[in-house]
Amino acid sequence: MKYVIDATVIRSGMTFSGEFEWYMTPSVKDEIMRGKLARDLELLTDISIKTMEPSPENLEKIRETAEKTGDIGRLSNTDIDILALGLELGATILSDDYSIQNVAKVLGIDYRGGAEKGITEVYNWHWRCRGCGRFFDEEAKECPVCGSELRSVRKKKQ
Ligand SMILES: [Zn+2]
Repeated sequence: MKYVIDATVIRSGMTFSGEFEWYMTPSVKDEIMRGKLARDLELLTDISIKTMEPSPENLEKIRETAEKTGDIGRLSNTDIDILALGLELGATILSDDYSIQNVAKVLGIDYRGGAEKGITEVYNWHWRCRGCGRFFDEEAKECPVCGSELRSVRKKKQ
């Protein structure tokens, strides 16, 4: 089973089951790498999520369809990439974006909301001090105890 993911799914703090194949577009990867969680996610995305560019033909097909459905104005170039890659791979798109889901439906591309259970595990983020090792639930610039830098770590939801 193949899945194409969008950036919001990654930001929601999920991890990706090894029994499926995970894909994202270069544009989604860029979006993630600009974000705060980039450092922690670098390893995750390099190891378990393949990056692939959709073909121009499929991009065009998505644009045409989105114009017909009226979703074109609400879709970013990244959203169009995601849809085109889903079409190309015959993959299921994982996204909570309503316009992505709508265009996927019209083209017969499978999709699921990122929050759906079973395929991903939900994590909470918390922060750990690089100096003293204390854990914090809130993000802060520096450790209130020792002043060292905090880094985000995943905590599995109970
Ligand atoms: Zn500390």
